[in-house]
Amino acid sequence: MSFDLSPASKRLERTRGLSNPIERVRFVAGARSDALKRLGINTVRDLLLHIPTRFLDYTSVATIADTKLSDEVTVLGVVDKVIIKRPHRFVIVEVYITDASGIMRLVYFRQPWIKDQIKRGDILAVSGKVEFSYGFKQMKGPFFEKLGEAASLFSTTKSTVRSGDSRDAKTATDKKPQMDPKKARAEIARKLRETAKLKAIYPLTKGISAQWMRRIMAEALVTYGGMLDYMPCDILKSLHLRSLRWAYSSLHFPHDTAEAEEARRRLAFDELFCLQLALRSRKNFAQHGSSGFKHVLEGPHYDAMIDALPFRLTQEQQQAFDEIRADMHSDNIMNRLLLGDVGTGKTVVAALALALASDSSGQAAVMVPTSVLVRQYVEKVGPLLDKAHISWALLDGSTPARERSSILAALKSGEVTVVFGTHALLADDVAFSRLSLVVVDEQHRFGVAQRARIADKAQNADVLSMSATPIPRTLALALYGDMQTSRIKKRPIQGAGLTTEIITYENIDTAMSAIRDAISQGQQAYVVVSRIDDETTTSGEPETTHAESEQASERKLYSAYKTYDYLKDVAFPETRVGLITGALSAEEKDNIMMQFRSHEIDILVATTVIEVGLDVPNATVMLIYDADRFGLATLHQLRGRVGRGNLFGKVFVASPYARNTAARKRLDALTTTNDGEKLAELDLKIRHEGDILGLKQSGYTTLKLVDFERDKDLVEQANTIAHTISADDPLLAHPLHAALKTEVLTRYPQLLEERTPA
Ligand code: ADP
Ligand code: MG
Repeated sequence: MSFDLSPASKRLERTRGLSNPIERVRFVAGARSDALKRLGINTVRDLLLHIPTRFLDYTSVATIADTKLSDEVTVLGVVDKVIIKRPHRFVIVEVYITDASGIMRLVYFRQPWIKDQIKRGDILAVSGKVEFSYGFKQMKGPFFEKLGEAASLFSTTKSTVRSGDSRDAKTATDKKPQMDPKKARAEIARKLRETAKLKAIYPLTKGISAQWMRRIMAEALVTYGGMLDYMPCDILKSLHLRSLRWAYSSLHFPHDTAEAEEARRRLAFDELFCLQLALRSRKNFAQHGSSGFKHVLEGPHYDAMIDALPFRLTQEQQQAFDEIRADMHSDNIMNRLLLGDVGTGKTVVAALALALASDSSGQAAVMVPTSVLVRQYVEKVGPLLDKAHISWALLDGSTPARERSSILAALKSGEVTVVFGTHALLADDVAFSRLSLVVVDEQHRFGVAQRARIADKAQNADVLSMSATPIPRTLALALYGDMQTSRIKKRPIQGAGLTTEIITYENIDTAMSAIRDAISQGQQAYVVVSRIDDETTTSGEPETTHAESEQASERKLYSAYKTYDYLKDVAFPETRVGLITGALSAEEKDNIMMQFRSHEIDILVATTVIEVGLDVPNATVMLIYDADRFGLATLHQLRGRVGRGNLFGKVFVASPYARNTAARKRLDALTTTNDGEKLAELDLKIRHEGDILGLKQSGYTTLKLVDFERDKDLVEQANTIAHTISADDPLLAHPLHAALKTEVLTRYPQLLEERTPA
């Protein structure tokens, strides 16, 4: 759809205008602009990239009588009554609507503002999934649009239902021969909204209706829609992608689902491609002019460490290490990702790399997300380093000031070769004499900028990232496309193994008695829950979707606090029960985990904050409540915490869902495969979201439009093309790439900051 009335010379202006504050869009002011800001919309560009959650499809409107159970439909009706209930501590708004054929109940949980938006007599279009409840047809938290009031409906002559509010309708009938420009604009904006058969629905928030959102979206498109396309033509052509302005307008005002999809694809490609360029250009900027540290291939420290190892490397370990060693030796700066489940023997491989740094008269920094994990690292690697005569130190938030300053001095002078630490290593006063290797474990727990900051402590240090989080190939390519990867799949030590049992709450006793048995034998147990208390969701897990939060409110989820009280006071009064959640400070968390490791706690009630790498061989049973609330990859990681040592593990995956329900079938996958990557792929297929992998901090949030199932080809293409471009024009300095470069820098402003010296 074309609505660009201005001359081409205005296009640059419009392009720049995308960075304008949101208040520059007509009708945006005061409380509503605050509401937009709550949604993270600060600029015109943010607004245009605010993606419809779904579309109200006016081409498939059903009568209430015709709707069937589980249908996803749009229904039009008049509000008969609005009822507010407070059964628990939260508010439920019930809305009854009727059309000529029947009555339907709409239920909104925890959205008290709904009662201010809907009143008796309103005509609504609602869209959602039909359920039956106590004799009523009902929808939970359906998306709705107010089409007008019943009075106006009855007074209009022919058209029963009109979109747009009454003010708009007036403007529409107000046709005069010569329009003043203001009215013309309003007319264009209105047309834009009305010609779309699909009505975009946006995430609801207090103070903003879907209708108003569409209205300002149309305004923004009229004013700024004629922007320049930063994407080089040949790329668009070769991928059959549409222009930017077409994509923006079709994303918000599509004629049909195919058009919406084509728009989404174009913008999804932009997200993927810009991320790839950002990842690569960071490296290119940093690397520009300097070549990598050339590590030696072997030496006395390395030999001593090999001798000290009580085992031989497995073939996979050897191969991963050979790849790392070749990178370290080369002129290029290493940027390699070592992937492998917990227990696959990555740490040993990293230790050998540390020895090479030492043999090369370099220094190494090992950065790990938490203090507990650092301690674990040091316990494993410290003795190896000692035997190889490599000096090392540990630096985290709790290192006393005096000790800290002597460590800093030793790092600066080069007296200490290897330092293990947390974020504490990022502090400005941590400096090295010859930092040549940076190892980042659980690398997705650090942001892109943090990873860059540690590497920036040297001109040309090689970087080895490691992760135990299973990640599907497509996602890995999108997020880490700039890195080489090595994978270890098999564990060197099989461990006693574990059983996974999927249970409902009727069978919870099975789990409880397994916990009791374990404790009577001097072993320990984990009990995992999905939320901290009854009010908030956990911090470790993704924000729930609209629909999920409604279910959650209706169903009582097991909270950490209540479960803790129950286990401590009722189920296991004789036992030492501990509690760990994201609500604790890092120090408190560390403390609890240490207590669990040293068996001062028998049962640990936890949210997913318990560390991936936490290694307590004496813990043998795990009970996971409300397991349907977690991604399969997360569940897989959780269960991997038992059964790794000599003791057999038992995992109970509990949810209210009986056999043959969809939720249950998803959980059942845990019993059919033990391959974390496969489970992660499955998750991606079922839930279409990568956030379940806890990858939020890694740049995933910038991939809002990408559907990793459908967009596999785009992911590959974005990668290949970014690779070619950045090989030819690493700094995007070519005039043809100027607009693209601006776009990348707008999306990733931290790239600019990183380049300017402090
Ligand atoms: P990760 O860091 O991947 O979680 P680790 O390096 O801690 O795994 O290894 C897990 C366990 O396996 C450790 O106890 C380690 O000593 C042992 N291990 C590592 N490599 C081998 C090997 N090649 N043969 C036997 N045991 C090994
Ligand atoms: Mg090198």
